[in-house]
Amino acid sequence: MSSITRKVVLIGTGMVGMSFAYAALNQSICDELVLIDLNEVRARGEAMDLNHGLAFSNSSMKIYFGDYGDCSNADIVVICAGVNQKEGETRLELLQRNTKVFEAIVPRVVSAGFEGIFLVATNPVDIMTRVTYELSGFNAAKVIGTGTTLDTARLRYLLGEYFEIDPRHMHAYVIGEHGDSEFVPWSQAIMAVKPVYAVLEKYPQRYKTEDLDKIADEVRTAAYSIIKAKGSTYYGIGMAICRIVRAIFHNENSVFTTSVRLRGEYGLKKEVFIGNPCIINSNGANRILELKLTDDELEKFRRSYEILDENFCSIEF
Ligand code: NAD
Repeated sequence: MSSITRKVVLIGTGMVGMSFAYAALNQSICDELVLIDLNEVRARGEAMDLNHGLAFSNSSMKIYFGDYGDCSNADIVVICAGVNQKEGETRLELLQRNTKVFEAIVPRVVSAGFEGIFLVATNPVDIMTRVTYELSGFNAAKVIGTGTTLDTARLRYLLGEYFEIDPRHMHAYVIGEHGDSEFVPWSQAIMAVKPVYAVLEKYPQRYKTEDLDKIADEVRTAAYSIIKAKGSTYYGIGMAICRIVRAIFHNENSVFTTSVRLRGEYGLKKEVFIGNPCIINSNGANRILELKLTDDELEKFRRSYEILDENFCSIEF
């Protein structure tokens, strides 16, 4: 991260992209924000709308509708572009169509001379991150997916309610695929200074394993519940993207369960992108933190990893 002006290019100005953009403006996380979308009319309109809010913000951010040439000196390219699942369409067919979308995006970003960090939110996010890695030829540290960052935030919020403690002191993570095979490695969950299992053991009348299972289920199915209620999810993920961008710009060394490329961790040899705690700083995914999983947790992680690999391998490039 060498530039003085912090520049982000957002590709995909739909609900997720614009939730990120709105949060970015309110939190003043960059100096320049460029909006790109296949639907140019919409992207122009979104830029106008955001600019009209500038006077009420603490930001002097430059926001404009742009093109791929704008990626040349950008620090971060955030990708939220994609197509939605059609009725009767399989997950794999959706994956194939979103790969086509990325084939139309990633090579153009690279050709513009972009040398920064890709941050991907499009679903299925772990696989789309790997697609970005393959299409860009970038170092894996420079290609990050939002992974289970949002799921982890949902988990910490629910655990905070359950244990009546500030969620920032709940150190628990959702790992694996951002999807049905994700899970919580409870053996690693810590309430402030005590392992959650130790808290359960000490207060068996008050805290129960079944409650933890319910919380993990609620996290896993949260997106389905929100989609049922309001069509799609966007604010939470928009803020998660914003948080990761901030960690990159501020060289924070903060830990997020982003989608990152494994290379031998957990004894797994294939180069799969998957949600796992990772230190994020201005170099991107700086260091993957390998957890000490129980045999059962390792089996769940391996299952998630295999699902992601199989799906990726079935894509026709
Ligand atoms: P949306 O339909 O509102 O927006 C998608 C945008 O992508 C549209 O504006 C469309 O014009 C644009 N687009 C399509 N093809 C393009 C191309 N070739 N070039 C440029 N732009 C293109 O969808 P949304 O609700 O904003 O969701 C976006 C993605 O984010 C989806 O894949 C969704 O599943 C995903 N999502 C991820 C998470 C997460 O945790 N990672 C959470 C919620 C949603």
